[in-house]
Amino acid sequence: MKRKIYHMAIAAGLLLTASPLLFSQDAYQKKREEMVQYQIAGRGITDKATLNAMRTVPRHLFVPENLRSRAYDDGPLPIGYGQTISQPYIVGYMTEAIRPKPDFRVLEIGTGSGYQAAVLAKIVDKAYTIEIVEELAGQATKRLQKLGYDNVQVRFGDGYHGWKEHAPYDAIVVTAAAEFIPPPLVEQLKPGGIMIIPIGSPFMVQTLMLVEKKGGQIKTKSLFPVRFVPFTRE
Ligand code: SAH
Repeated sequence: MKRKIYHMAIAAGLLLTASPLLFSQDAYQKKREEMVQYQIAGRGITDKATLNAMRTVPRHLFVPENLRSRAYDDGPLPIGYGQTISQPYIVGYMTEAIRPKPDFRVLEIGTGSGYQAAVLAKIVDKAYTIEIVEELAGQATKRLQKLGYDNVQVRFGDGYHGWKEHAPYDAIVVTAAAEFIPPPLVEQLKPGGIMIIPIGSPFMVQTLMLVEKKGGQIKTKSLFPVRFVPFTRE
C-alpha cells in the first residue's frame, strides 16, 4: 500500500515537472493546425499529402529559438546569414505544385533552415538539398538528423550545378530567386519532371515559374509574383 502511494507521488511529480513541456508542445500543435487551416487549406491548397506534411513538421524547431513563438505566423522569418525561412503558404504552394508522390526523388536548391526539405521528406522517397552558406548547411544537417528525417541528404555547395550523382529527379524545387533557369537543373530533371523556381532580379519582385520537361523540351508557365532571397554563385 505504502509503496503504491509512493509510486503515485512519483508519477504526479513527473507529470508536474513535465507539464510545461507538454503544454508548450500542445500549443505549437494547435498553432500548426491553425496555420494549415487558415493559411494553407484556406488559400486553396488541397493536396492531402502536402497538408498532412505541414501538419506534422514542427516548424518552430526550424527557426531561431528567440523567434519560436512566431514560427507559425503568416510570413517568412530570418534564419541568420541574411537568409529566411519561406512563408508557410509558399512552402505549401511549391510542394503541391510538384505533385509529389511517395516514390519521388526530389532535389531542392537552397536548404536554408531545412524546413522545405523536411516537408518534402515527409511525402517523397528521397530528398536531396543543396545550400551555399556552409554554416546553414551544417545546422540544417544536424537539425534534420536530430528530428529523424533520414531520407534527406544535405550538401554544402552551389546548387547551380545540381547534384548529378542522384539525377535524374522527378521534381526540383528552387527556393532562391535566379536570373534564369540553370541549364544543369533542366538536364537533371526526368522526362515529364517538374521544376518550380522563382525567376527575377534580386531585391525586386520576381515571378514563380513552373517548368515542365516534355520530350526534351521545356514548357514554362508564370504563376504569381513572389519575393525570395537571391540565388548566389560560388
Ligand atoms: N528552403 C528554405 C528557404 C531558404 S532561403 C527553408 O525552408 O528554410 C534560400 C536559401 O538559398 C538561402 O539559405 C541561400 O543561402 C540559399 N542559396 C542561394 N543561392 C544558392 C545556390 N546557388 N545554391 C544553393 N543554395 C543557395
